[in-house]
Amino acid sequence: MAVAVYPGSFDPITRGHYDIIERTAKIMDHLVVAVLRNSSKTPLFTVEERMAMVEELVGGFPNVVVETFDGLLIDFVRSKEASVIVRGLRAVTDFEYELQMAQTNRVMAPEIDTLFLTTNLKYSYLSSNIVKEIALYDGDVSPFVHPQVAERVKAKLLQK
Ligand code: ADP
Repeated sequence: MAVAVYPGSFDPITRGHYDIIERTAKIMDHLVVAVLRNSSKTPLFTVEERMAMVEELVGGFPNVVVETFDGLLIDFVRSKEASVIVRGLRAVTDFEYELQMAQTNRVMAPEIDTLFLTTNLKYSYLSSNIVKEIALYDGDVSPFVHPQVAERVKAKLLQK
């Protein structure tokens, strides 16, 4: 069975992330979306909130589950008996960092491969940070995130 892990901060999940999940779910037998617990970035949402948003959107996929992880990604991938790490590539700016990560992981875990999906052109400019910035200035984030996520972003920023 081909099992993949799609790791990320998902702070919050955007339509770009969702597109990668949807496409990967078609290619792989099973997909674990892995929400990073301790990111070096300070997240807007707690890990529980980030997971809940992903779960809400991917609940309809029979072969996708959402989990949280901490520590070395390859350890998590091995614990899931997965052989593939999925990452999305938007622009050349992603490339250098992603290549470094993929090569490092390959040295540490030669049995695990990193699979890159190029972004859907519609979402090539899109990041969680852009969504947060637009929301902060009361802009309309509906082109970038699903309505449930837009609600949560709005509510979160009101709390702050
Ligand atoms: P990380 O903190 O690991 O970069 P992100 O949540 O920002 O976590 O991104 C997770 C993965 O999703 C990364 O591989 C990133 O390149 C990819 N990604 C983010 N936004 C998009 C998008 N709009 N289109 C395609 N892939 C994306």
